[in-house]
Formats: sequence, C-alpha cells, structure tokens
Amino acid sequence: MQEDFYSEAEDPALYKSEMKRRHWMARRRRQRRIRILVFTGSIVLMGTVLFAQKYTASEHQVVRAEKKQKVVETSADIDNSQKKVSANDKEGVNSDTAEYEIDASAWNLILVNSSHLVPDGYSVELTELTDGEAVDSRIYDDLKAMLDAAEGEGLSPVICSSYRSLEKQTTLFEEQVSMNMSNGASREEAEKQAAVWVAPPGTSEHQLGLALDIVSSSYQGLDEAQEETAEQKWLMKHCAEYGFILRYPTDKSDITGIGYEPWHYRYVGKKAAKEIMKQGICLEEYLGAAKSN
Ligand SMILES: [Zn+2]
Repeated sequence: MQEDFYSEAEDPALYKSEMKRRHWMARRRRQRRIRILVFTGSIVLMGTVLFAQKYTASEHQVVRAEKKQKVVETSADIDNSQKKVSANDKEGVNSDTAEYEIDASAWNLILVNSSHLVPDGYSVELTELTDGEAVDSRIYDDLKAMLDAAEGEGLSPVICSSYRSLEKQTTLFEEQVSMNMSNGASREEAEKQAAVWVAPPGTSEHQLGLALDIVSSSYQGLDEAQEETAEQKWLMKHCAEYGFILRYPTDKSDITGIGYEPWHYRYVGKKAAKEIMKQGICLEEYLGAAKSN
C-alpha cells in the first residue's frame, strides 16, 4: 500500500522525488539484473568451451584407438580404366586430391589376404541364398538390391560361390594343389601355383561371408572372358552403388597377390566402395596396408 501513500494532490514535491527515487532504484535493479545475466552467461560459455575441448580431445583418443587412418590419395594413384568404370558416379569426392577417413576396424573393411588371415574364431551370422549359397546377413539387403537392379536391366547374374567354411576352403585349395602336382609340380610349387587362384585356407575373403563370385548365366567360365559379359560390365559399373568392389582388378595383382578375377566382388560398404572404384585402387591401397615393394 506504500505505492498509494504519496499522491500528487497531497504533496507534489514529495511525490516527484519519490518517483525519481523509484525510477533510480528500478534502473539500479535493471543494471544489477543485466550484470548477473552477463556474469552467468560468461560462466555458461566458459563451461561449454571447456567441455567441448575435453570432448574433442577424448574423441581424438577414440579415433586413434580405432586405428582410423587419414589417407590422402593423389591423382597419380588414379587408374584411368577404373576411373572410366565409375565415371557416372556423381557421389564421392570429385577432385584430384581425395581425402577421406577410414575406420579400419569396421566389420565391412576387414582385410583378408595372404598376410592378413581370417581372425581365429571369426564367426558370422549367415543368411542363406538359393542353391546352398550364403552371405553375412549384414550384406544381404544390398546384395539383393544389386541383383534385383541387374535383373531389372534384363541381365542374369548367377552367384557361383559365396560364404565358405574353413573346411570348404581347405578342400578347394587341396584340389588345386593335387591338380598341379599331377601335372608334375612339387608340393611346394603346386601350393605356390594354387595360391594365385585359390586362396590358401585362412586367407580367403569367402570365409568372411563378404565375398561373392558372380558370373553371367550365359557364360559361367571363371576366366578373363567373363569381363566381356553384359553382367560383368553392368556389375563393374554399378557395384559400388550397393557397397561392393571388384576385389582383384587386373592391374593390382602385385598388391593383392591374386590374379585378375572379373567375377569376385567384395562388400566393403557404400562409402568405401565408391571411393575405391572411383579411384581405381584396391582394398589394400585404400586401407594403406599395401605391401611396399
Ligand atoms: Zn571369389
């Protein structure tokens, strides 16, 4: 009720000075509120900056722990023939110097070759295809989409090999060794020759359930002529859109250790596949694990 105590009618001078005092007090209160706001704001801002710095630092540690590698590929590494294959690929990095981050520990980027064996006890959840074939369940949808798209173009791709158990791989390798030995090679020579075409047990991507041999229904030979089929031409051009790469290109045999296989496709995920096919590199190069010859 104090507000009503002084009125202009009773004592105008007193009223005026009281109003002045009240305005001054109100201004003081406003200024104090602003100072508190500014102070609180600064504290919050400082806290945010400190937290962000800490978070970024710990994220970097995780990145290192996961063996993420930053790879810089220059135009010198780009192979022209492979570039043609992915000429229609509008996604991915489109410059002479492509820079990308790789999580080498990702399940889809696991490297298996003569010096990188399938990890002991590697287990995979399989999805069965027709004709007794099977693949890692995680790639099934992309594989189906790719084959459906090819069929939509009037093509008839046929999967002739997919997941192989260690036992199956051993049998295949031994068959090849026996054949070479029957042609007069020593066991050692026979194994060496066999390894160019059939990966020795423990070194085959087929054991991962991430690799497939796909041929044309009209020509099922596993030889260089396979690349001339309409199915291979389509697959080489479009496989990356579905996360697959042509794993053993003709000009990368010295790095992969495997002869040209224009039928062997490996799932690496869409991001990696587009980069690999676009740049015409092989998985070893992409992962920076190429042997330095
Ligand atoms: Zn294969």
